[in-house]
Amino acid sequence: MPPAERQHLLGTQDSPLRQVYTGDMGGFSELPVIRKDPADLSVTPNLADYAATRADFTWETAESWLDGLPDGGFNIAYEAVDRHVTAGRGDHVALRCLDKAGAVTDVTYAHLQTETNAFANALRSLGISPGQRVFSLVGRVPALYTAVLGTLKARSVFAPLFSAFGPEPVKQRVVIGGGVAIVTTTALYRKKIAPVRDEMPTLAHVILLDDGPADDIPGAIRFEELMAGQSREFPIEPTGREEMALLHFTSGTTGTPKAAVHVHGAVVAHYATGHFALDLHPDDIYWCTADPGWVTGTSYGIISPLTHGLTMIVDEGEFDARRWYRTLAEQRVTVWYTAPTAIRMLMRAGPDVAAEYDLSSVRFVASVGEPLNPEAVVWGREVLGLTIHDNWWQTETGGIMIANYASADVFPGSMGRPMPGIIAGILQRGEEGRAAAGPDGHVVELGPGEVGELALRVGWPSMFRGYLDADDRYRKCFVDGWYRTGDLAQRDENGYYWFVGRADDVIKTAGHLIGPFEVESVLMEHPAVAEAGVIGVPDPMMGERIKAFVSLKPGTTTDPAVLRKELTAHARRRLGPAVAPREIAFSENLPKTRSGKIMRRLLRARELGLPEGDLSTLEGGDK
Ligand code: AMP
Repeated sequence: MPPAERQHLLGTQDSPLRQVYTGDMGGFSELPVIRKDPADLSVTPNLADYAATRADFTWETAESWLDGLPDGGFNIAYEAVDRHVTAGRGDHVALRCLDKAGAVTDVTYAHLQTETNAFANALRSLGISPGQRVFSLVGRVPALYTAVLGTLKARSVFAPLFSAFGPEPVKQRVVIGGGVAIVTTTALYRKKIAPVRDEMPTLAHVILLDDGPADDIPGAIRFEELMAGQSREFPIEPTGREEMALLHFTSGTTGTPKAAVHVHGAVVAHYATGHFALDLHPDDIYWCTADPGWVTGTSYGIISPLTHGLTMIVDEGEFDARRWYRTLAEQRVTVWYTAPTAIRMLMRAGPDVAAEYDLSSVRFVASVGEPLNPEAVVWGREVLGLTIHDNWWQTETGGIMIANYASADVFPGSMGRPMPGIIAGILQRGEEGRAAAGPDGHVVELGPGEVGELALRVGWPSMFRGYLDADDRYRKCFVDGWYRTGDLAQRDENGYYWFVGRADDVIKTAGHLIGPFEVESVLMEHPAVAEAGVIGVPDPMMGERIKAFVSLKPGTTTDPAVLRKELTAHARRRLGPAVAPREIAFSENLPKTRSGKIMRRLLRARELGLPEGDLSTLEGGDK
């Protein structure tokens, strides 16, 4: 195993204690395997026997768990909303919305059906047709759910944005997606859209959820007014399962963000993964804490749970340890899907805070988005009395691919095993550090304990169907019938997968995937900056934090402390606080390849005191 890579797994398979290297989180520790006895579970799990379920499963079976449209095909919104009303569960609460002050509003499936019908009609009344893109830039407010599902009913395409983005990332994504409408608030509009509005020529309609002043906003229309005159009936037209439903933006190492295309047929995987990996049942009270601007916020913050007909908590408030524990306790949450950064923040708040709340309703906890440090799993057992089940997936996969299951043993630090219907593999890497076919055109699958690129056999329903207008980039994701994830991982003898790191330079900070190129481009806009290289450095709370190395143009005389402040302010204004670098270092020369590409890998190795690896392509290096 290359020494620079994180080594998680050092114990023996038959030892009840495993030595786990916690990488950036602080050294070695011995952690117990969490053994599961199905007899201890209060609710019969949907997946009781991993091997048997996997052997029996087919995607056709999963399809039969859904209804399909009366005229054939699948529409996500029909499966998420209408079918429960048809089945006589219209009075069941779909959304339990908590506003910032904690006031509770319930939305039943029947009400969600009529509201989403009205929104679909509203889009049509604005002249927005099937296939056209509707964006959102807003927090977790009830109208968002109406907008997403109403857009899908109208067979238009929904594209959520992270509300902590600054104007530049917003503009890039709306332009790439060709957005015709955006659902937002007047405050967010003024801060993030107004400065770049002229650069988004397709954006005709701005649907505002509040009643702030809007006379000067071109194309402004109030959500309430738009909805008021609409019919509450909307017969969903036949929807092909390959029809585009969602665009989710993600970042690579180079170039502009990529818009991953997801289709209506993905709902089969949304349902099945919620069934197996999150153990969702119709009488659950489910809470997904993901931001609606990222893929988890849509797949598991809207679609999957609603397809199960359960009650979902929608909390408008930001993270606060007491608020979260109170929500779990008072709302009697049964299934909770959260993320490592949030868990680490709860750990920081201390066990005494947790002890004040009755968490006895919680049956199943899962985490996703970044490595879950094994100590957090142990903390979950000790402090919350709950096992935190790590699972793995990404924007392109559309749904959970690898998971720890309610009924299965948990090895702290492991992401678990592939979902029924999913074949995962660890592939040997070629010269560029990515899985590659050999001279015979085939890849080599590695065995237990070997580090390679995590890959998935193509063909599951929620697999992305393209990057919008970027076929080349899409094609590069595949080799020999496998989708290459860009993650390095290893599998153990029990078939459990362990995350090792990224095969590329993208950064995961507080669960958000950030492309270094986007940050570097904005830093380069500053007149004093000659070059910029951006990397992620370990951070005990955020997993990684963004650090920029900047070389200045010759003759720059500004005091570095002043310049650092200026650059930070510039980056925050353009990119937003979640994407701007937390640290800026000045460096006379940045290491580059002979073709002039900044070697972020080397910047990172030097920053962390890791071996520098192969330097043969370094500019000025050994020939
Ligand atoms: P995104 O496409 O923004 O959802 O980010 C996906 C990436 O997040 C993956 O490729 C991984 O690098 C990382 N990731 C997601 N889940 C996990 C996990 N359970 N453990 C480690 N990394 C994860």
